[in-house]
Amino acid sequence: MPTNQQIVLDNRPQGEAAADNFKLVSSETPALADGQVLVKHHFLSLDPYMRGRMNDAKSYAQPQALGEVMGGGTVGEVVESKNPKFAAGDKVVGMGGWQTYSVVDANQPGALRKVDTTHVPLSHYLGAVGMPGVTAWYGLVKIINPKAGDTLVISAATGAVGSAFGALAKARGCRVVGIAGGPEKCQYAEKELGFDACIDYKLHKDSASLGKALKEACPKGIDGYFENVGGMVLDAVLTRMNAFGRIAMCGMIAGYNGEPVPLTYPQLILVNRLKVEGFIVSEHMEVWPEALAELGTLVGTGKLRPRESVADGLAAAPEAFIGLLKGKNFGKQLVKV
Ligand code: NDP
Repeated sequence: MPTNQQIVLDNRPQGEAAADNFKLVSSETPALADGQVLVKHHFLSLDPYMRGRMNDAKSYAQPQALGEVMGGGTVGEVVESKNPKFAAGDKVVGMGGWQTYSVVDANQPGALRKVDTTHVPLSHYLGAVGMPGVTAWYGLVKIINPKAGDTLVISAATGAVGSAFGALAKARGCRVVGIAGGPEKCQYAEKELGFDACIDYKLHKDSASLGKALKEACPKGIDGYFENVGGMVLDAVLTRMNAFGRIAMCGMIAGYNGEPVPLTYPQLILVNRLKVEGFIVSEHMEVWPEALAELGTLVGTGKLRPRESVADGLAAAPEAFIGLLKGKNFGKQLVKV
């Protein structure tokens, strides 16, 4: 059996995550038991939720145990199988974690899924046609529930979730305005992702200034907002929401290191009779087939061409992950294992 390179959580961060919170180790891959499959990982997904799991604090996800392989989504190829449903060469998506190989009990429901790479590149099953894409779909369809002509806004617009949201919202005839960090990301949102406008929040020193830019980009106000960051961005959006607007609370990356993300004018939720709903995509498995089918078609037909930031080699995962939390990624952050 091959030697497995693995990254374990060595110690918990105090404030910002750092590379020395992680440790690279190696171990022998165990021999397969009946029902098990050995998967060689091609790509590892890095996702903001992993930062929350590094803390030993109450959250919707279990804390990552110290000394154990970091959890995470992976795509790869079956190299050996003792399960009749899988054969060597099958391309699969699973939760293999930060390591080069995983041994999977493939009889466990949802543990491993075969994917077709004829029209969708394997790596996109970790992004647009995977968990982040379904996240965008759920917030848009089930919470914002837009009608054609609505104006929708999303923060972290060029990331894995944001780029999928743009394509899904345009397909429903909405005006879609992104908020992203830096001119390059904003240009990409407008030119490549089909956003009607994109605002560079880094040009604005406070929520009043950002609110003015939103007023220009959203002359009819905002009907739906997909929240990924919190802080000043949320404050600014709240001032431009229309009555009976809907806010899908998906992420609060501005507060993932434990810093407070205060809301300056919560009374706007009342005044505008807003619906504000948080959600966790893994708690809505019932929508995944429908969402993945739509996302697969958008990617397969070229209507969604997601961008990826790919770190080279497992050892590069910690730095790439820390970069993701600071906006250094441009599109879906992956590691080529
Ligand atoms: P992205 O690919 O969008 O990467 C994160 C982006 O967040 C960065 O590129 C950066 O973009 C932005 N960012 C980072 N720090 C800050 C900050 N302090 N203030 C403002 N923006 C910041 O990640 P994903 O698409 O994977 O995830 C997007 C959001 O969705 C995250 O909040 C994540 O936690 C959440 N999520 C929630 C799920 C759920 O079930 N609720 C499931 C999946 C994701 P920029 O340079 O543009 O600022």
